[in-house]
Amino acid sequence: MNSVALHKISYGIYVVSSVNGKNMNGQIANTVFQITSEPPTIAVSINKLNLTHEFIQTSRKYSISVISESAPMTFLGLFGFKSGRNTDKFASVKYKTGTTGVPILLDYTIACLEAEVINELDCGTHTIFIGKIVDCDVMNDKEEPMTYSYYHKVKGGKAPKTAPTYVKDEPKSDSKQATYTCVVCNYVYDPEKGDPDNGIKPGTAFEDLPDDWTCPVCGADKSQFKIN
Ligand code: FE
Repeated sequence: MNSVALHKISYGIYVVSSVNGKNMNGQIANTVFQITSEPPTIAVSINKLNLTHEFIQTSRKYSISVISESAPMTFLGLFGFKSGRNTDKFASVKYKTGTTGVPILLDYTIACLEAEVINELDCGTHTIFIGKIVDCDVMNDKEEPMTYSYYHKVKGGKAPKTAPTYVKDEPKSDSKQATYTCVVCNYVYDPEKGDPDNGIKPGTAFEDLPDDWTCPVCGADKSQFKIN
């Protein structure tokens, strides 16, 4: 079995959000897919360990913010690698409250959908929540949605262990210079790509990064990186 085949499946990058009373939380999800058009339904696959899972099971509603290619890694890291149990993810971003009362992101978001859960499927580590779409809108027609492939290839992103698509020991980049992996979040610094979001030009060796450079995803300092 060649599990690299799984990397050939296309996905997007979304923030799935929900509420529990006055508390809000959201997380990056790549498994978001329309199920039917009559009635319009959409499904998300959420890890049972995640706080968003708990919120969706309680409130029976969720929103999907479709993230654009322009989103920086710090934004993706906030929603993808930090837990709402110890971080208020909505404290530092712009959002609006949707018609269902669930937050919808305004930063780096090109479209949004809101759904009420009509069915759920226990899939072991994850639950698939199927929702009836009760509202949706396009916020930005000029930017492209970020695909999972773009996130990996252009942004140098990795899947967290709680993602449905997480694969142990993902293949290394084929770049000639050594790459460095953040031991906290698995972000890979590739000298050929640099870190343009933070002013680091392509071609900058790891050793030449400024001393105060930190992981663009989780904020760890240079000492938390190991050579690949
Ligand atoms: Fe990191």
